[in-house]
Amino acid sequence: MSSGHAASEVAFLSRALKAPRLRERAGALAERAREGAWSYEEYLAAVLSEEVAARESHGGEARVRAARFPAVKTLDDFDFGFARSLKRETVLHLHQLDFLAERQNVIFLGPPGTGKTHLSIALGVQAARRGHRVAFASAQQWVARLATAKRAGRLDDELERIGRIPLIIVDEVGYIPFDPEAAALFFALVSSRYERSSIIVSSNKTFSAWAEIFGDPVAVAALVDRLVHHAEVLVLRGESYRLKGKGKEVLQGDERG
Ligand code: ADP
Ligand code: MG
Repeated sequence: MSSGHAASEVAFLSRALKAPRLRERAGALAERAREGAWSYEEYLAAVLSEEVAARESHGGEARVRAARFPAVKTLDDFDFGFARSLKRETVLHLHQLDFLAERQNVIFLGPPGTGKTHLSIALGVQAARRGHRVAFASAQQWVARLATAKRAGRLDDELERIGRIPLIIVDEVGYIPFDPEAAALFFALVSSRYERSSIIVSSNKTFSAWAEIFGDPVAVAALVDRLVHHAEVLVLRGESYRLKGKGKEVLQGDERG
């Protein structure tokens, strides 16, 4: 087979395999292989790994978009020097995603602006890039989604569908109190995922204040019990990063968690 014929054969076969990156890179890598006297196996590994890398990053970015993060944040842009109450090692360990494999939860508690949402997103982005489906929404949005499903008589289907997503992020629990129906839907969401799939929750209220948000202390105890049973709970303290370097006079007025 002439090398020209081989090249068109590679073009044809990589199209059949739906491997465009392989096709793009096969020629240039073959030249490098000849120059570097690579073995056949080394060359094969090099072209395949280009295709794999292209697929992983492509799928990863698609999953990041599908997760509907309000913004893409990573640990690279997180200042651990500012978040002094946080153990860096704990966060780096979570970033390895063992918690996902073990179907554990992560809970961020702390006042507004301390990085709860940022860290939740950073873990979610990492999970998406590593091949896991992720969905981000506020507690209100999750409950609204379930309320819609319930009205349509397909609450169980919806819980089942959400349960198949390996990681969901529930942001801003406690920002707005829940009415009894919303509280019941939130409980259903947490129970349906218990020991099956992971949740990252963030809240600006401590667990002891959750009774007020949900209105029913007994149900809240059961909820927190399930959520925390297999979970890493990280408590953030200190000032809002949003107000960093700003004068004391702006320290009122930011109520949002
Ligand atoms: P919370 O959810 O706790 O209210 P956020 O995570 O939304 O706070 O943080 C508020 C803003 O400050 C975001 O833009 C976030 O990226 C940024 N931020 C918070 N903490 C840090 C930090 N330690 N390093 C870098 N940016 C931070
Ligand atoms: Mg937040």
